[in-house]
This record gives sequence, C-alpha cells and structure tokens, in this order.
Amino acid sequence: KPRIISRQEHGIDRRLVSRHAIKVCEVLQQAGYEAYVVGGAVRDLISGLEPKDFDVATNATPEQVRPLFRRALIIGRRFKLVHVVFGREIIETSTFRAPAAQEGENTDEHGRILRDNVFGTKEEDAARRDFTLNALFYDPLTENVIDYHDGVADLKSKVVRIIGDAATRYREDPVRMLRAVRFSAKLNATIDPATRAPISELAHLIGNVPSSRLFDEMLKLLTCGHALDCLKQLRDEGLHQGLLPLLDVVLEQPGGARFVQIALERTDARVRSGKTISPSFLFAALLWQQVETRWHRLRALGEHSIPALSQAADSVLEEQTSKLAIQKRYISDMREIWFMQPRFERRGGKGMGRMLEQPRFRAACDFLQLRAASGEFDSVQAQWWMDLANGDDITRGEMIEALA
Ligand code: ATP
Ligand code: MG
Repeated sequence: KPRIISRQEHGIDRRLVSRHAIKVCEVLQQAGYEAYVVGGAVRDLISGLEPKDFDVATNATPEQVRPLFRRALIIGRRFKLVHVVFGREIIETSTFRAPAAQEGENTDEHGRILRDNVFGTKEEDAARRDFTLNALFYDPLTENVIDYHDGVADLKSKVVRIIGDAATRYREDPVRMLRAVRFSAKLNATIDPATRAPISELAHLIGNVPSSRLFDEMLKLLTCGHALDCLKQLRDEGLHQGLLPLLDVVLEQPGGARFVQIALERTDARVRSGKTISPSFLFAALLWQQVETRWHRLRALGEHSIPALSQAADSVLEEQTSKLAIQKRYISDMREIWFMQPRFERRGGKGMGRMLEQPRFRAACDFLQLRAASGEFDSVQAQWWMDLANGDDITRGEMIEALA
C-alpha cells in the first residue's frame, strides 16, 4: 500500500546522492537484502537542498551487514547499527526498526519512550519516524521513492505533518516538537494545524528530556541556517522555557536583542554559504548578555574585573547546564572566549604575546566584532584587534610597536 513515486515525480537528481550511499545500497541489494537511502537526505534531496549526511535502512541485521564491507563497525549498545566507512564519509546503516509498544514498561509516566530497539518491517520503520517528509525510502538503483505517509506530497506543498496522533507522538518523544519547528523553518514550510495544535500544551514535557539530548537537538536547530526564525518560532510556541532561559530577554528587549540577533544572522549566513560554525562560539554568544549583565553588576558592587567575570560566567553556566547540558569540551572554549574580552580593553602592555598565542584568540577577536557591531565596544579598536589577528608576525610586531 505505499505509494511508489518515480523519478519524474520526486525529481531527485541521482548525481547529488553520495556515491558511497549508492554503493552501500548496491552491495546490500546484490546480497539479497532490501536497502534504501532514508530520512533527512531524501527530504533534502527532494527539496533541492544539499544533504549533510546519508543514512541507509535495510532489512539485513548489523551482523549480516558488516561482513559485506571492508571497513564497517557495529556501534551502539541499545540499538545496534553499522557505520560503513569510506575515507572521511560514514554511511550509517540501520536495520528497519519497529515503533516501541505504546504504553507500559517501555515508556515513562508521561508516555516518553525509553526503549525502542526492536527490529521491524519497512512499513513499521516508516511509521516510527517523526514526520511524513522524514519517512521516505529512496532506492538509488531503481530511483523510486517509497512513500507510506504521503511525505512527497507534504514536501511539495511544504507542510510539516507528524505521523500518527500528534499529542501521543510528542509524549513519546518531546524533542519532536523542536524538530517540527526546525524543519518548518529550514524548509520554509508550515506546520500542519493538527501537528501544531498540541505543542503549546505539551511544551513543558521538554523538561523531561535528558539535557544532553536537548543539547544535540538545539545545536542542530541553531546550525540549520535559519536559527533566528527557529528561535522566534520556539518562543511563539512556548517551547523556549527550559531550553535557553534567556530567550525571552534575547528576543524581546529591543536593545538587548541586538547582540544575539547579529550573532545569529552571521551564523545563518555562514551556514548557508557552506562554512562551518563553532558551537562554542555560538553558545558563548547566546549566553553573553547574561554574563555581561552579571559581570557589570558585580563590578558595580566593587569586585575586580577578572574575578567578577569569572563569577558571572560560573553562575550563568551553572544555570544553563541544569536545563540544557552544554558539552564540557565546549564550555572551556566558551570561557576562553569570554575571558579574553576584558583583555581587549587594553592594547599593548605585558602579556600581549601570550594572548596572541592563545588557541582561541582568533575566536575571541571574532566575538569582539560582534560586540562592536552591537555597539558594545569601540569599532575602530575592534578592527585593530582583527587586523592584529589577521596579520603575520611582522605586521603584528609593527602594530604593537606603533602603540608605544
Ligand atoms: P538532519 O538534516 O538534521 O540530520 P534528519 O532528518 O536527518 O535531519 P536525524 O536526527 O539525523 O534528522 O534523524 C534521521 C531520521 O531519523 C529522521 O529523518 C527521522 O526519520 C528519524 N528520526 C530522528 N529523530 C526522530 C525522532 N525524535 N522521532 C522519530 N523519528 C526520528
Ligand atoms: Mg541526519
């Protein structure tokens, strides 16, 4: 009963499909299994976007998949899947999975799914996915798309529609509410009314999601190229509470919003032009206003600048981490970016050489440009630091000497 959609209808250009993903499907099919490109890649290909990565779904078990490839590792404890490695590209290859049983020992008291590690059929695998436009199977050999939930039609008419009963699916996994917002912003789509309706009432369930998972999903949201739209929509849906406590401040205070707006605009522009973005820089920017406010307050109380900043950073990070755990490796970079800011107030002087050698000096300079763009720092001086960061050793020497 699925719809089989031909090349002419879905319009996927096979040349944009990773040749390694095609290879994985080919090898599996030759071994007698079913194998398809699935999920986000199919969605993006049909929308004319470049997929970030390619996943394959198959009816072969991980143990059956692995020996078919030269470099393949079985990963995951709860749900095993195979990473087929081709140089720098990894094709994540999963066995069709069944939706978890609706209630009982597999869910918590709010209905959140704790276990979903049962192999299933292709049809079940489609049904356990979140949105119709994420539940498509593309066979790169026949070039057909197999569509159980009319996802191609929804993609073409730009509608984000959940599979099944929206409230139930959000209770199973509240992160899906964030994903609805992300895909609608990214694809310039609307959220189907029935998919959207229960969100405001269930938004609080986000609070039950493990904070590390929230971080992963939030990072995807912030780096999807439409972060500003996403955050505005999160706020409109009441989904921001418990995520970024500062989001109200960020989006509502006319003056206060400037810094983050600029940071997000620049992030979006970078993502859209294919550049990488650094999560630590992004989170450093998102939390800066809070840090800055507290820093000022502490200094006004007579605390010295550096210990005040340190205290402000600690308290902001502590509060934030209880909601959405920023990974440790990013936290130390964020601190370095922040702690270099007071150093920019003085050009020259001792310690300048050491400052230039700091691994995050460049990022801290970029951060200073944001502060300058939002009117928080003198733009001529900020430019001087940028020139210094960009200069070679000779230029740097001259610039520093010229200060004397
Ligand atoms: P991205 O472009 O951000 O990678 P994606 O759709 O590929 O988007 P992933 O998180 O990589 O998102 O997930 C891959 C696929 O797994 C999705 O397309 C969807 O079919 C399914 N999926 C992911 N998260 C969920 C979820 N929370 N509930 C149900 N299905 C999900
Ligand atoms: Mg993906």
